[in-house]
Amino acid sequence: MKRLSVCICVLSTSFLAGCAGAVPGTPGATSGPLKVVATFYPLAEFSRAVGNGYVDVTTITPAGAEPHDYEPTAQDIGRVQSAAVFLANGGGVDTWADKADTGNARVLRVQNFLPLDTATGTANESPLDPHVWLDPVLAQTIVTHIRDALTAADPAHVADYEKNATAYTHELQALDTAYKTGLATCGIKSIISSHNAFHYMAKRYGFQLISISGLSPDSEPSAKELAATADTARTNNIRYIFFETLVSPKLAQTIAKEVGADTLVLNPLEGLTSEDIRAGKNYLSIMRENLHNLRTAMQCQ
Ligand SMILES: [Zn+2]
Repeated sequence: MKRLSVCICVLSTSFLAGCAGAVPGTPGATSGPLKVVATFYPLAEFSRAVGNGYVDVTTITPAGAEPHDYEPTAQDIGRVQSAAVFLANGGGVDTWADKADTGNARVLRVQNFLPLDTATGTANESPLDPHVWLDPVLAQTIVTHIRDALTAADPAHVADYEKNATAYTHELQALDTAYKTGLATCGIKSIISSHNAFHYMAKRYGFQLISISGLSPDSEPSAKELAATADTARTNNIRYIFFETLVSPKLAQTIAKEVGADTLVLNPLEGLTSEDIRAGKNYLSIMRENLHNLRTAMQCQ
């Protein structure tokens, strides 16, 4: 509700008087909103939550696009260079950002403060696994670092960044609790997903992850690998094969058909689709949908 009320204030000038102090650019504020640029969705979403009202966040990977193979335009690089804070993940999900000229932007790279695990599975393009944002506990660490980066770039609003980061951290803690309790007692302890994005989540909540393709969603498994995955599905009595929203469900459907299973969405949150945005979905709501589908697939009580 707090975020909604701030949006209304920004959009409606008639409310400005009643919202003095909450709107950047009003007397007392040091300048306009802080320009924040993120390589892809989850970092942008966390920045909006922490910077609520004081930041202008741009996401480089467009809605509906998948970040692993996104190539930035010259305009994208210009946006990075003119940002006050630039957020990247590292580990292969935004490889272009490893070497980009970031100009005078203050750079926060998740890989530099969260040690990434070695990638598992086949056909990896990166030796490390970048998908830390899918663990609600590691996400809290990211939020803390974003708070510190925004504060360093804009110390005038330290109290707001502090307050917003604390509130969002409480949401992430509630999400972690929901996962812990929701996945505590399940008939099946493994899942099959289309790309290998869920290692950190699986490690946190104690289930086994079998991926059809590799760490990048566009890496193609061989016919032999597909047959092996189908065998694994049969052996583990798996009734649902997961696919995701930003890539073709073809592989998941092939395996599901092969073993007589159904398909369900497990969203790696690497980006929202335009449909997601219209429906008002976000990191927290999609993570809840993911939990619901995991509980279905793993037959949890
Ligand atoms: Zn990925």
